[in-house]
Amino acid sequence: MLRVERGGSAYGARLITDQPIRNGEVIFTITGHRVTHKATYQTVQIGIDTHIEELGVLAYMNHSCQPNTIIDTTHLTVVAIRDIQANEELNFFYPSTEWEMDRPFICLCGASQCVRLVAGARYLSIDTLSRYFINEHIRDLAVAALDKARSAPDEVLAQAAPTGHSRQA
Ligand SMILES: [Zn+2]
Repeated sequence: MLRVERGGSAYGARLITDQPIRNGEVIFTITGHRVTHKATYQTVQIGIDTHIEELGVLAYMNHSCQPNTIIDTTHLTVVAIRDIQANEELNFFYPSTEWEMDRPFICLCGASQCVRLVAGARYLSIDTLSRYFINEHIRDLAVAALDKARSAPDEVLAQAAPTGHSRQA
């Protein structure tokens, strides 16, 4: 069983498993959701222009740069990518589903490979993305962005530069 623990982290709430879960196990199948075309902090992106909302306990799953689950947006499942202990928090890598997030944040996950700025896959290098499981629509969007960068490099660089924060070199 999964349970929501409130006030347990900097994010306000966490999704915890009561039982151990094996690597590769399907933890959760997403049902009862609604499709929307607008990203909010509570949606998960499942296609180039498609997001889903009303996700139940899934809405409480936090981001990690060293996640223990993936969300497979083709099959709408949450799958363990390593063995998970009872009472561990479940998390996933937000840019594996999100191209451009409604509410970017600075990650405090503490992982050595932490990407720090979690704003969506659009703001990560291909090199960084290649370290993770990434859903098909994110791969498609990354390839499209690369193609665009090749055909009009100056224009894309100007557009892609995030504003309002500084990036570490
Ligand atoms: Zn992190």
